[in-house]
Amino acid sequence: MKAEIITIGDELLLGQVIDTNSSWLGQYLNKLGIGVHFKSTISDSREAITNALLEARHRSDVIIITGGLGPTKDDITKITMADFFNTELVLNQQVLDWVQSIFTKRNLPLIDSNNQQAMVPKNCEVLWNKNGTAPGMWFYENGKAFISLPGVPFEMKTIFEEEAIPKLKSHFNFPAILHRTIQTIGIGESFVANKIIYIEETLPKHIKLAYLPSIGSVRLRFSAYGEYMDMLNKELIPIIHELYNTIGEYIYGEGDDSISEVVGKLLRNKNATLSTAESCTSGFLAQMITSIPGSSDYFIGSIVSYANRIKMDELNVPAEIINTVGAVSEECVIAMAQNLKAKFKTTYAIATSGIAGPGGGSELKPVGTVWIALASPNGTVAKKYNMGDNRERTILRTSLTSLDILRKELLMSN
Ligand code: ATP
Ligand code: MG
Repeated sequence: MKAEIITIGDELLLGQVIDTNSSWLGQYLNKLGIGVHFKSTISDSREAITNALLEARHRSDVIIITGGLGPTKDDITKITMADFFNTELVLNQQVLDWVQSIFTKRNLPLIDSNNQQAMVPKNCEVLWNKNGTAPGMWFYENGKAFISLPGVPFEMKTIFEEEAIPKLKSHFNFPAILHRTIQTIGIGESFVANKIIYIEETLPKHIKLAYLPSIGSVRLRFSAYGEYMDMLNKELIPIIHELYNTIGEYIYGEGDDSISEVVGKLLRNKNATLSTAESCTSGFLAQMITSIPGSSDYFIGSIVSYANRIKMDELNVPAEIINTVGAVSEECVIAMAQNLKAKFKTTYAIATSGIAGPGGGSELKPVGTVWIALASPNGTVAKKYNMGDNRERTILRTSLTSLDILRKELLMSN
C-alpha cells in the first residue's frame, strides 16, 4: 500500500505556518508499516488541488489531504473534491445538528457560512470531527482511498486516528509489524553499536534496528515488517540469538523488563536475601529494589549511612579507614558491605560510597568517583567507577550499576 500526503494552504507555501501535519502523518503511518512515498504542499486554488489529486490517483493507493475545509472563502477543498468526483454537495443532517448545537452552547448566532460546514460531497462518508465543525471526508473509488482532513492539527490528528484508521484497516491489508526490544546495561550506545555493527549490516531491508539510550542503559529495538507475523518471528530468532552471542553479558532483559525486576526474580529463585548500605545513593538503590511488588520476599532493609559517624557506629567501619583512606575508598565499601551482610544476616549486601557533587571533589577523588562493593557467599568484591559530574545521573548510574553487579554474580553462581 502506497500512501501520499497533500497539504493545502498558501500560508504553508509562504512559510508563515510550518507544515507539522505531514510530518505527524508520516511518522504515524511509518509506525503502522505504511510507507509515505510522496508528499506535496499546494496553494488554496482549485487548479492546484485538482492537479494534485489527478497525479496522486495514478501513483498512490491512499491519498491524505489536509486543510481548506473551513467555512471561509479560501476554503475550497470540499467543492473541488466534489467536482473531481463529478458529484455535488449535499446536506448532511447529522453534521448540521452538531454544528448548530456547538453554536447554541456557546450562545453564538449561526450564520450561513457555518451551515455550509454541513454540506459535503454526495459520494463521501463523513469522518466525525468531535473537536470542531469541519467534518473530515472519506472517498473510496477504484481501490483508492482519499481522506480529506481539516488543517487544524489537533482536529486532524483525532479524526485520522479515530475515524480514518479503522476505515483504512477495513479496506486495505496492513503489514504485520513485530517489535522486539532487548535491554542492555553497562555499555554505552556507541560501544554496543560497534560490537554489533556486523549484525546490523546484514539485516534484511524489512528489519530495522533502533538504539534507544537512556541513562545507564540502552534498549535495542528490532522492528520487522512483512505479511505474516509467524514468518517475522522466525526470522528474528537467529538474529536475536546472534545478539546474545555477541553482547550477552550486557543483556539483562527484554521488552519492558526493569533491572530491579530481573534481579528480584534471580534472588527469589535462589531463596536469597539482600540488604544495602548506602552512602552516595542514600536509599535510592533501596527504593529501586522496593519499587517491585513482592520485593519483601528478598529485600531485608538498608542503612543510609550518609555521615561518617553512621558508617562507624552502625556499620562498624573502623575509624582508621575513615581517617586514612577516607569514606570513598575500597576499604570503606568493603567494610560497609561485609558488616551489613553480617548485621542483617542476608545472602548479599551492596555498599555504595562516592562523591555525587557538585562540591567535594579533589584531584585524587574527582566528582563522580564512586566505589561499589558486593558482599556475597563467595566473598566481597569492590570496584571503582567514575559516573560523571551530574549529581542525579551519578546517583542513578550508581544504583543501576550496583544492581548489574549483583545480577552478574547471581548468574555466575547459578
Ligand atoms: P478551519 O476550519 O480552521 O478553517 P481548515 O481545514 O480550513 O480549518 P486551514 O484553514 O487550512 O484548515 O487551516 C486551519 C489552521 O490550521 C490554520 O491556523 C493553519 O495555520 C493550520 N494548519 C493548516 N495546515 C497545516 C499544516 N499542514 N500543518 C500545521 N498547521 C496547519
Ligand atoms: Mg480554513
